[in-house]
Amino acid sequence: LDPTGDNLSPQEIDLEKKLRPLSFDDFTGQDQALENLQIFVQAANLREEALDHTLFHGPPGLGKTTLAHILAHELEVGIKVTSGPVLDKPGDLAGLLTNLEDRDVLFIDEIHRLSPIVEEYLYSAMEDYKIDIMIETGPNARTVQINLNPFTLIGATTRSGLLTAPMRARFGISSRLQYYTTELLTSIVQRSSGILNIPISMEAAIEIAGRSRGTPRIANALLRRVRDFAQIKGNGKIDIEISKFALKALNVDAFGLDEMDNKILTTLIDKFKGGPVGISTIATAVSESPETIEEVYEPFLIQQGFIVRTPRGREVTEAAYRHLGKTKQGTQGG
Ligand code: ADP
Repeated sequence: LDPTGDNLSPQEIDLEKKLRPLSFDDFTGQDQALENLQIFVQAANLREEALDHTLFHGPPGLGKTTLAHILAHELEVGIKVTSGPVLDKPGDLAGLLTNLEDRDVLFIDEIHRLSPIVEEYLYSAMEDYKIDIMIETGPNARTVQINLNPFTLIGATTRSGLLTAPMRARFGISSRLQYYTTELLTSIVQRSSGILNIPISMEAAIEIAGRSRGTPRIANALLRRVRDFAQIKGNGKIDIEISKFALKALNVDAFGLDEMDNKILTTLIDKFKGGPVGISTIATAVSESPETIEEVYEPFLIQQGFIVRTPRGREVTEAAYRHLGKTKQGTQGG
């Protein structure tokens, strides 16, 4: 189960699209962010202006891409989608920018991964809706400035800390997405089951929701996997028994921690006496990149109270020892 969505199969990508809420009314949770966005969109619509550039940050799978699409829908404009690593040269960006119609949305996922030269190029586009483009080559080469239609840049990032200050300053709206409660995820699971025509009991929906790492993408992924078990091992309906059976087979524990979450905690306790340990040391010990640990795993472990950040590194908490049934010396306990 991959919260990042980076390794989804084509079928899974299709399903994600199908399950994606399309309007504000359809979207569950993130109330504070949503209330503000609704006001900003109404105001922009009233003035017939482009919405201010908007930045969404937070861990993967919480709805940043979904919200970008919803904003375009609510602004009744088109959306063009790209991502930081894909935009190699300013020319790639120029092509997208010059094709935007009045008030359109340009969505750049992983905006912290733009190359510095592309990022710089974006500044004047964001600020004055103007870009310089190079015409002709060789001795006749020159740049001309062209005007763009007013547009809204929506950026998404899992690492707002990696955004440069000038980039960050150019977003009028910035919104941090939070992990979802089990209650919210339960209604998301129910909504998705409805769309996919899967009968599911309330108890089962709560069970799946509670084990989804606070993340809608994981809730939907678990729902699909549990449905497989229900169809092959059960009677097609998702009830609490088949859910528990499937979640156990999928190695998802009662807190929704996955194998890597547990590996991180176990490593901290067994190899480093519970810490404090630096992030790169942890990363090496569990064979994962420091970025992924920091973006994907650590925020949830911190939110659940299993890890704390200290000036000297990461430390596990009492709750982590209890969760893994270990005692402070790193030996097996009750
Ligand atoms: P991100 O861009 O933050 O990684 P996405 O917007 O791609 O996350 O969301 C991943 C999946 O989770 C989407 O396909 C969507 O179906 C689901 N999802 C995300 N947020 C919500 C929500 N608030 N309500 C219902 N489904 C959601």
